[in-house]
Amino acid sequence: MTSSRFDLRGKVAIVTGGNGGIGLGMARGLADAGADIAVVGRNESKSAAAVADLRQRGVKAIAVATDVTDKAAVAAMIDRVAKELGRIDVLVNNAGMSIRKPPHELELDEWNKVIDTNLTSAFVCSKLAYPALKASGNGKVINIGSMMSIFGASFATAYAASKGGIVQYTRACANAWAPDNIQVNAILPGWIDTDLTRGARQQVSGLHERVLARTPAGRWGDIDDFAGIAVFLASPASNFVTGTAIPVDGGFSVMA
Ligand code: NDP
Repeated sequence: MTSSRFDLRGKVAIVTGGNGGIGLGMARGLADAGADIAVVGRNESKSAAAVADLRQRGVKAIAVATDVTDKAAVAAMIDRVAKELGRIDVLVNNAGMSIRKPPHELELDEWNKVIDTNLTSAFVCSKLAYPALKASGNGKVINIGSMMSIFGASFATAYAASKGGIVQYTRACANAWAPDNIQVNAILPGWIDTDLTRGARQQVSGLHERVLARTPAGRWGDIDDFAGIAVFLASPASNFVTGTAIPVDGGFSVMA
């Protein structure tokens, strides 16, 4: 295996939610491998900080303020990235959120918000990026699932539905776009230390300890744990890997 198989110089990657958490961890990995990056998020100050961080790694980086649940905004974002960075080779559908409620308490508007953010946005971004990914000649889509793609939890009603859906959506796209040499894969993070889980850790007593006890690696994941898998799935090294859902979880999903 030569290092060129992991070389992303000359490639352009869009990372939704790339301004923080797991998205930033992946964006940093892609930038370190040479890719130019479009950071997509709503919070402009977080995005500006992420862009500064990525530029320090020697690549071009732009922030495109976008709500991924707004189809017109996503279309404008895709156009802008193609114009400003010249092409689109990699799309990382990472933006996500959760509303922690059991099924009998979750309201329809809350259900819709989670599904729109975590699942429908991946469909819209991928559909609109498809022509550019096809034109790339070796397009890559990386969707972010969860342990809730595999397991259920009483508090994760819409979240689990969205993350189960993203795995099946990944498999459909992998089939559809294989003739275009576009590979589509999902990453299933375990429990990772980010803003998303910091909130949960404050709300749910004992969560921190339960995660440590349930994770064979004996620690929470770090955003840096996502750099390598992102580079692999974005690079020619994974050209025969498609439709998979790869846990990055310290062994959480194989713990008996
Ligand atoms: P963060 O809250 O740190 O990051 C979520 C990102 O999504 C933010 O950068 C946010 O940007 C962006 N985002 C949310 N809603 C929208 C929207 N409507 N439009 C545009 N951007 C949006 O959480 P994580 O890094 O933990 O989560 C990243 C992904 O990983 C999510 O899909 C999550 O479900 C998944 N995941 C996380 C796990 C964990 O343990 N942390 C475990 C399993 C999966 P902004 O604030 O600018 O809108």
